[in-house]
Amino acid sequence: MGDKRIVVVGAGVVGMAAACYLRREGHEVTVIDRLPPGRACSFGNGGAISGSALIPLSYPGVAWKIPGWLFDPLGPLSFRLAHLPALLPWLGHFLAAGRPARFAKIVDAKAALAISCYDGWAPLIKDAGIENLVRHTGVIHVYRDKAAFAADSLPWQLRRERGLSFDELGAGELRQLVPGLSPDYTHAAFEDHWRYVLDPYLIVTGLADHFRALGGCIVHEEVRGFEAGPEGVRRAITDRARHVCDAAVIAAGAWSNRLSESLGDRVPLEAQRGYHVTIPQSGVELRHLLMDPGGKMGVTPMAPGLRVSGTSEFAGLDTAPNLARARVLITKARKLFPALKAEGFTEWAGDRPALPDTLPVIDRASRHANLFYAFGHSQLGLTLAGITGKLVAELVAGRPPSLDLAPYRAGRFRGRAA
Ligand SMILES: Cc1cc2nc3c(=O)[nH]c(=O)nc-3n(C[C@H](O)[C@H](O)[C@H](O)COP(=O)(O)OP(=O)(O)OC[C@H]3O[C@@H](n4cnc5c(N)ncnc54)[C@H](O)[C@@H]3O)c2cc1C
Repeated sequence: MGDKRIVVVGAGVVGMAAACYLRREGHEVTVIDRLPPGRACSFGNGGAISGSALIPLSYPGVAWKIPGWLFDPLGPLSFRLAHLPALLPWLGHFLAAGRPARFAKIVDAKAALAISCYDGWAPLIKDAGIENLVRHTGVIHVYRDKAAFAADSLPWQLRRERGLSFDELGAGELRQLVPGLSPDYTHAAFEDHWRYVLDPYLIVTGLADHFRALGGCIVHEEVRGFEAGPEGVRRAITDRARHVCDAAVIAAGAWSNRLSESLGDRVPLEAQRGYHVTIPQSGVELRHLLMDPGGKMGVTPMAPGLRVSGTSEFAGLDTAPNLARARVLITKARKLFPALKAEGFTEWAGDRPALPDTLPVIDRASRHANLFYAFGHSQLGLTLAGITGKLVAELVAGRPPSLDLAPYRAGRFRGRAA
């Protein structure tokens, strides 16, 4: 049984999953967040637990696609010009990550995590009693036609090579499964192993309730830094208190590098802002999670309504969201579902913690043996929270981790293209 006093910074889905795993091992765990659990990026994601998400954002040839996305008013990607100078080092690493040899290694590292994602989630979901929030319906990836599917062959080829099965659907089957889908979409791929959640916010609050029931403590404070000595970090300093600790975990989402940098690990983390609209009475009959690879968005039939989520905006963490980008998602969703009614929709923006190779950092700090990192999950924080929590608990205990953690090291960007 663990006997350490552990501080976890961040009550998003990643921090709460790590805290639950650590508490289950018997440690005395305090989660510190300036917000209540699940109020930052983990609040409004698309809800997918995607066990075959192995394509990084950067891939061979991506550089040629970026201008087209940027100039498309409905496009999935945007930058704010004022943020471009700060973003350049990240972009350098991003393009380097798309070189073929590096890309192949990143895909393997993403696959190792994604394929283990349900193993990481299963005990948490069961013990937290939140099975009722998880749907195992599989996912339908829709394409305009077979040619569009063939043009997007890379992810499917990589999945096939890893034994991740899928079925192609023709127009008839697709219409049966998704009756309101526009007849412009005539081809699809169906993967039955994906799950989705009915409300990602309730997943985090469910974990938080479970954590408290196990005796864990959550405090609403802002961590300003750590006091460290020769044996590592000793105290987390917040705006209100000093929390003595034997170990600490930084799971502070898109803000994590602000803390890791002061502790000796500089990581090129950017906020990859995404948006959603949630439509309470959309009139769309949808029983599955639906992905639109062409439009780069997902449509999820959630408890609060139909959620349309996507887009990537690199604007810096401290800028206000441009909610017009959320409303663009309604226009795009009407291409899928022409009869969609949008009355009463709510809009939201969240900052995904994005590293240029789309792999998270799951590691021990370089200078402090009792400090651990769990951040940078980009588009997959919900998917990977469970397995990340499990790996963090293994790292803290000094047990051999269930996966080779070399690809997720904080120091992997040192000496690479900047
Ligand atoms: C539009 C959109 C759709 C998405 N869809 C999916 C999806 O379908 N499936 C999927 O797997 N992922 C999806 N994601 C990604 C997923 O939501 C994120 O990867 C995930 O929420 C990140 O979780 P986190 O716990 O690392 O960060 P967060 O949820 O942002 O939590 C970090 C917490 O740290 C706290 N914090 C930061 N600094 C400090 C400090 N100094 N002191 C105290 N507290 C601090 C913050 O207040 C915050 O609560 C989506 C994201 C977006 C934006």
